[in-house]
Amino acid sequence: MIEISGLTKTYGPTPVLDGIDLTVGDAQIAAVVGPSGAGKSTLARCINLLERPTSGSITVAGQDLAGLSGGSLRRARRQIGTVFQSANLLRRLTAAQNIALPMRHQGLRDAEVRSRVADLLERVGMLHRANHYPSQLSGGQRQRIGIARSLALQPSVLLSDEATSGLDPDATRAILDLLTGLRDDLGVTILVITHEMDVVRGIADVVAQLDHGRIVEQGSVADVVRRSDSPLSRALLPMPA
Ligand code: ATP
Ligand code: MG
Repeated sequence: MIEISGLTKTYGPTPVLDGIDLTVGDAQIAAVVGPSGAGKSTLARCINLLERPTSGSITVAGQDLAGLSGGSLRRARRQIGTVFQSANLLRRLTAAQNIALPMRHQGLRDAEVRSRVADLLERVGMLHRANHYPSQLSGGQRQRIGIARSLALQPSVLLSDEATSGLDPDATRAILDLLTGLRDDLGVTILVITHEMDVVRGIADVVAQLDHGRIVEQGSVADVVRRSDSPLSRALLPMPA
């Protein structure tokens, strides 16, 4: 569960996030949409502790993230996996070695690492590419390895910042199936940042629209679609074939 209350973030004089209130329940997928520069990535970076909020509070799995340092900060970071638009894999390591890296840093034993890497490769449908280097993988396959790596330390929360941008429909579908599987099988709480309304309709339980650092509309996807007269509900209408 992610609970955000009164979150603001300013760089210099301008608020980039301006009083965000947002709750994502356990085993829920929330989508955050909004124009370029609205503050979506900044929101994700506050949740995954890459940025410090200027004010407000963020609670992940019952723990307030404010004021953490040292060991408690490291433990909190492990609770939160992030997938970015480019998977950011290390190109000198194979797919399996990339997934293993966070576990090695954590000091897990070899046998444990091997077994978890095999489980993760299987979960993302990539067992057959375990020993390929990133340059030998397609964009969608790299994304799946990136997701597997973000799951290496068994986070309770997963953030995805435009993880399907630039992928073709089949590769996108594979990633979305993977995310819904994580929600349904493992109870992971997932926040998906996307500009693709197909993605919102396809997997999100709730949706929030951000504009100029504020949430201008939010609700369950089913409710928002029924509103039919709001900007977000119109954006969510499927394109006529
Ligand atoms: P996009 O859809 O283009 O990815 P976004 O909604 O993710 O946009 P953010 O990356 O959160 O937008 O940026 C929001 C605003 O904050 C932008 O105007 C950006 O220039 C500004 N910003 C982001 N990071 C910093 C920073 N480190 N220092 C100063 N300004 C920043
Ligand atoms: Mg962004």
